[in-house]
Amino acid sequence: MLAWGVDVGGTDCKVGVVDATGRVRAESGFETPDDPEAAVREIAGACRALEEELGARIERLGMGVPGPLDLERGVIVHAPNLGWRDVPLRDMVAGALDCPVVMDNDANAAAYGEAWVGAGRGARVLLLVTLGTGVGGGVVEDGRVFHGARGLAVEIGHMVAVAGGRACSCGKRGCVEAYFSAHALSEQAAEVGAGDGDPRVHRSLFERYAAGDERIVPWLGRAIDVLAQGVAHAGVLFDPDRIVFTGGLTRSWDLYRDRLLAGLQADLGPAGPPPGGIGLTELGGRAGIVGAAGLALKRAAAGKRREARGGERVSGSSR
Ligand SMILES: [Zn+2]
Repeated sequence: MLAWGVDVGGTDCKVGVVDATGRVRAESGFETPDDPEAAVREIAGACRALEEELGARIERLGMGVPGPLDLERGVIVHAPNLGWRDVPLRDMVAGALDCPVVMDNDANAAAYGEAWVGAGRGARVLLLVTLGTGVGGGVVEDGRVFHGARGLAVEIGHMVAVAGGRACSCGKRGCVEAYFSAHALSEQAAEVGAGDGDPRVHRSLFERYAAGDERIVPWLGRAIDVLAQGVAHAGVLFDPDRIVFTGGLTRSWDLYRDRLLAGLQADLGPAGPPPGGIGLTELGGRAGIVGAAGLALKRAAAGKRREARGGERVSGSSR
């Protein structure tokens, strides 16, 4: 069985075909269009092209998208990076490809992918933390994504870690994302005249931090501590046996890992994973498509089991 996996990002959109073992059989990508209808056309076109490339008929699609979402209605309520509001993307894509679509938050899709065939394999409870333009999180327990009542659970980026702290894009103050995210790092660097907001300078910021640069160490060290605190809070709540970090900022992981892990271990206490249980993604940038497709395959398998049970009852009653 095959499924399309789609990862709709703020800048790029990735599309892949994934099999039941979690292997990516074909993939492609394109720049995410500003207009949702154009995005749906591009997604559908890329999906059909991959189907043709493989010579296989594909009948299900999973999609990870930036939130917040209305999961029940399949609507992107607001995606600030895309400038989209109230977009019924699930039904739009389902209509364009004439197949069932499973849609989830991008961090949840990535978490499901890592739990299924990535760095979270074999874990009972996986906590995934994405460090990119923003900070996201997802929890998968025994193969099930924890959504919360309205799909807003595990938004680690918007946990307040500093009372009355830095202003966050969400309107609150002191959120983790207001300290340790690509956006927040650029902002804080600019505030001390140490960067021009170019995301490509993040690596050099971490290098200067590791070298003990006095203009960088105070605020970047604090940002790492705030991230550790936020992740530890989530850890205390969900008691994961695996914590996996992913996203663009993990490219500099070697330069801030020691301080982050020390802070994490101190704040987690007994709730922390066993030694070696905290680490980096295995699927990298593919986690989103793998996880999204995995969610669609899981939904299809559950449907088949239901059908089989219904079939048993029917044949039983006719006997
Ligand atoms: Zn916030």
